[in-house]
Amino acid sequence: MNAGINDSVEFDKKHIWHPYTSIQNPLPVYHVVSAHGVRIKLTDGRELIDGMSSWWSVIHGYSHPELTKTLQRQAETLSHVMFGGFTHQAAIELAQKLIAISPAGLERVFFCDSGSVAVEVAMKMAIQYYYSKKRPGKNRFLTIKSGYHGDTFHAMSVCDPTTGMHKIYQGILPEYLFADKPQCGFYDDWDNRDIDSFEQLIRENHDRLCGVILEPIVQGAGGMRFYHSQYLKEVRTLCNRYDVLLIADEIATGFGRTGEMFACGHSNISPDILCLGKALTGGYLSLAAVLASDDVGRVISAGEPGVFMHGPTFMGNPLACSVACCSIDLLLNSPWRENIRRIEAEMKRGLAPCYEMAGVRDVRILGGIGVVELEQPVEMARIQEKFVQKGVWVRPFGRLVYIMPPYVMGSEDLQRLTQAICEVVGKELEII
Ligand SMILES: *Cc1c(COP(=O)(O)O)cnc(C)c1O
Repeated sequence: MNAGINDSVEFDKKHIWHPYTSIQNPLPVYHVVSAHGVRIKLTDGRELIDGMSSWWSVIHGYSHPELTKTLQRQAETLSHVMFGGFTHQAAIELAQKLIAISPAGLERVFFCDSGSVAVEVAMKMAIQYYYSKKRPGKNRFLTIKSGYHGDTFHAMSVCDPTTGMHKIYQGILPEYLFADKPQCGFYDDWDNRDIDSFEQLIRENHDRLCGVILEPIVQGAGGMRFYHSQYLKEVRTLCNRYDVLLIADEIATGFGRTGEMFACGHSNISPDILCLGKALTGGYLSLAAVLASDDVGRVISAGEPGVFMHGPTFMGNPLACSVACCSIDLLLNSPWRENIRRIEAEMKRGLAPCYEMAGVRDVRILGGIGVVELEQPVEMARIQEKFVQKGVWVRPFGRLVYIMPPYVMGSEDLQRLTQAICEVVGKELEII
């Protein structure tokens, strides 16, 4: 490692915030120089096989030639233009593609900057929907425990009340309703009692509820849990019965990750509002989209003030929209279902040894998501370094060691990844 790199890492340590990291006593960071395909290259020459898809986003691998070319071409013609009063081809095409592949009935597309903002937008839509219907008392939300919806204020307010940030922001965050987290796993037999808590809350509170928000089937950062498809069907039925909008947050699950194009597909339901982000641009740029039903669009526009009150500066950014179009084309033109099925089967085989380890609570796999849940939390810095030493990039949190590899990962690389997890988790448990 040359002195220049050491200096820059020192500068970073002193001056730059990283996610959920102390600025005073930061966790180590690794200096990346480039990334291609499923490999991330560090400045010291080491290469890591990527198990994280940079938080669900880089589904086609890094520096994909077509995505890069699309971005370059777009930059040469139109990098940005305000969306107020203007439109452009990239946004129009992206909206067409999203409407075509998303669950039926979602026809109104709102572009924004990031997942958290998409959640804010979706929640504002639900509030404004009933405001426009002159039922302003319907302005609260119901969600389920163990969820994660982002880090901005309303998104935080529907994250899990214990593992989320409710305590720090008590008195400032709105207080919403939380049903018990679903207990029936994706592969379990359905037990009707699983919906009881949710059913009771919506029955008793629907007069003041404008929306239910949840992550369909897979609860991501709130615990990496996979719940039963019948649960989501019941939720849809109850939202209809009690006149409450259903917001599906598919920011993590969208674009094939769970084995269906959207996780709602496991239950064959359509939400009233859908949030997309993360893999939307294939991991190239931050972009999110909120799709709403025609009814939601119409009602909001018919009421007072007659418009939806949101409009980010970089709304519909052409660079982000064009690369998103290209990413969706790549996905649709690839055998993504087969890829995910293969990755699922290989993770099931590759992570099986973890089942046997004392100290492992559960191993679960769904689509392109593999999770090893431990009894005890891991020490992040130590375990992270062990993974890097083995040439893989896996970033656990709490008791969860999990991967969601790029869809293009070959069998050999995936094997190295799962083998590294078995070895590192095995060693770690001996230490604990
Ligand atoms: C990541 C995530 C968000 C937040 O997205 P950002 O782009 O990080 O703001 C919201 N909901 C879910 C389900 C997510 O996984």
